[in-house]
Amino acid sequence: MSKIDPIHIIGGGMAGSEAAWQAANMGVPVILHEMRPTVKTFAHQTDGLAELVCSNSFRSDDDSQNAVGLLHWEMRAADGLIMAKGDKHALPAGGALAVDRDAFSQDVTETLLSHPLVTLERGEVAGLPPEEWDNVIVATGPLTSTALAEAVAARTGEGSLAFFDAIAPIVYADSVDMSKAWFQSRYDKGETEEERKAYLNCPMDRDQYEAFIDALLAADKTEFKDWEENTPYFDGCLPIEVMAARGRETLRFGPMKPVGLTNPHAPDVKAHAIVQLRRDNALGTLFNIVGFQTKMKYGAQKEVFRMIPGLEDAEFARLGGIHRNTFLNSPRLLDDRLRLQSDPRLRFAGQISGVEGYVESAAMGLLAGRMAAAARLGRDLPPPPPTTAMGALVTHITGGADAKTFQPMNVNFGLFPPVEGVRGGRRKRAERYKAYTDRAKADFGAWLAT
Ligand SMILES: Cc1cc2nc3c(=O)[nH]c(=O)nc-3n(C[C@H](O)[C@H](O)[C@H](O)COP(=O)(O)OP(=O)(O)OC[C@H]3O[C@@H](n4cnc5c(N)ncnc54)[C@H](O)[C@@H]3O)c2cc1C
Repeated sequence: MSKIDPIHIIGGGMAGSEAAWQAANMGVPVILHEMRPTVKTFAHQTDGLAELVCSNSFRSDDDSQNAVGLLHWEMRAADGLIMAKGDKHALPAGGALAVDRDAFSQDVTETLLSHPLVTLERGEVAGLPPEEWDNVIVATGPLTSTALAEAVAARTGEGSLAFFDAIAPIVYADSVDMSKAWFQSRYDKGETEEERKAYLNCPMDRDQYEAFIDALLAADKTEFKDWEENTPYFDGCLPIEVMAARGRETLRFGPMKPVGLTNPHAPDVKAHAIVQLRRDNALGTLFNIVGFQTKMKYGAQKEVFRMIPGLEDAEFARLGGIHRNTFLNSPRLLDDRLRLQSDPRLRFAGQISGVEGYVESAAMGLLAGRMAAAARLGRDLPPPPPTTAMGALVTHITGGADAKTFQPMNVNFGLFPPVEGVRGGRRKRAERYKAYTDRAKADFGAWLAT
């Protein structure tokens, strides 16, 4: 048998560990490069692979009603290492999957080290990989070392690699009350009808605005950590509550300015303020609240944002946040095999590829590992269809999302194409989610069998 050259995986976190496992199980040798303990990050505490840096939860394990539970299901079906060890070291957590973090990381490390095709090399890859590494997965995560991040930023061009995320909450379009909201772009700008109606608008009168500002100022906030303070990030992207604290009118002259828009439900009434939501995906199922990045705690966000007329019953695909995070503008840079279009020997996986969360990061590692190994074996492996959780995520980050406003995404049903014949609306939600997950399981099984 001819010798198979190794693939190189940089970063032994959630994505890199899963990628190594998948590629090695396909018979392809892997060299896994992990910089810890030689170079540390501010969040990792150990030298273990797949260390969970914060919570110990893989979130919901419900694979019929929850998109992250469905992702668990798909990863188990694909013989995922992260799920197998998560299950083995599970702790009681109701419907969620919580894990014993030390036992989990230790088991992932030992399992990979004992795999005959995996070699672990400790040390930082402090720049772009040498040319002789012809098949590389970069899975260096939200805290990618500075030297490598700078090299990737230089290769991908200005503005292509972010060092912070500024996430505005994302709402399911079908949970917006359209008897109060309406579609219109400011001053009806746009060449096409679609562009002229690209935004959803929610109007406020003076009392509603004042009550909203009071609630914003009073809401519970997450404290800024030392490493988040004094960063250039905050010049351009202030949290909404910080803007509100600068003056009660600041938002009316910023993201909530009531100009260039006419409310078709009350054409003669001039709104005091208007909240705009911008379409967040090609399917038109998700909308982000423009300029509403926030450090409010999750519970407070739901309460405060549901004060906005039209969003009283809003369901959130994701809540807002601001974090230290290194990630690519993947919709512009990556192809659907997770390769850098301008340098296809480099494949990206995990948080740096523009997903958010332990499970999503590991899922992108699973795909990248399989794709890289297939390429090494002379085959092409397409991604799973967008009707699956893994396929919906990869489709979103590599093209479905708007590159201009791209922020990391976690898996949610808003990323899935609608199931024909299944109606929208809140009351039908359980039925709709079941239809999504049934379809996904069948389609994922078919993809695995190819
Ligand atoms: C502070 C913080 C808290 C978070 N909390 C949560 C949470 O509670 N729940 C959740 O679901 N998600 C959380 N996340 C988001 C994210 O899902 C996790 O960080 C997840 O671990 C990402 O997986 P990954 O494989 O992409 O990166 P990581 O798991 O971070 O793995 C990347 C690995 O690459 C290594 N590395 C970096 N640069 C180099 C280099 N140049 N050479 C060699 N090795 C390198 C790092 O040491 C690390 O081991 C958090 C992120 C941060 C930053």
